[in-house]
Amino acid sequence: MLTGDDAALSLARLLCGRDNAAREIVLPRYLQYHGIAFSRHRFARPEGRGDSFAVELGEGERILVLCAHHDAVAGSPGANDNAAAVGILLHLISRLPPRIPRGWRVRLLFTAAEEIDYLGARAYVEEMPLDGIAGVLSLELCGIGDTVALWDAGETTPFLENVTASLESAGLARNTGYDVVGRIPLFGSDHRAFAAAGLPAYGFTMVPAVHADSLRRFVLSPMRSTFRSLIHRPPPFRTYHTSGDALGTLEPAALDLAAAALTAVVRGLGA
Ligand SMILES: [Zn+2]
Repeated sequence: MLTGDDAALSLARLLCGRDNAAREIVLPRYLQYHGIAFSRHRFARPEGRGDSFAVELGEGERILVLCAHHDAVAGSPGANDNAAAVGILLHLISRLPPRIPRGWRVRLLFTAAEEIDYLGARAYVEEMPLDGIAGVLSLELCGIGDTVALWDAGETTPFLENVTASLESAGLARNTGYDVVGRIPLFGSDHRAFAAAGLPAYGFTMVPAVHADSLRRFVLSPMRSTFRSLIHRPPPFRTYHTSGDALGTLEPAALDLAAAALTAVVRGLGA
């Protein structure tokens, strides 16, 4: 697996189906094997512990952070949540550098313990310098669907406007190729730790356009019972946090589109 092809879907296999202890070992092993420099942020809190890993691409002073948590909930293979996102970022490591505009750097941040109320990201924000960070996208559920959803985007910011302009330059149109969704009540991800520190930070998820309306109702529902009911869950939430979140449910085209969209975002980082 260390030496296989580096399609995002193939790289998702690195973590998929492993428990969190194994995920935390195999990810740095992959980076070491490929000679990719990384830093480790180890944290320990009463709620949990873990190692997050950061890979820096480019040399500029301004930083785009792309997060993908490497942990999964117990009992789930964690394919779409969140091995797919990790696979996408690993896939991009060799491809992004020539596309990073002068003055910018991209930090790929693989966090631990997102499933404990994004503990790894909160510890990172509290313990690590945030200087230079201009925006954050947290990749979640990037392996099923044909539309990019940017979420927790209640208020627009120059960073968000830049991201959406980049998506449009990549041929994605608002409300068909990508959606911008406001604050989602019962779902969260690493970006919220950065948003709490005052940085523009959003969730980045792939969703199936055919289920857009039911998805919107579902994620914006204030009813926790709706969230728990498997019957009423539209994809990709049908497998979310279940034993059904398996590699076979991932759609290669979804991972490819997410990677292309993120590449456009990086290319479009302005002066
Ligand atoms: Zn997740």
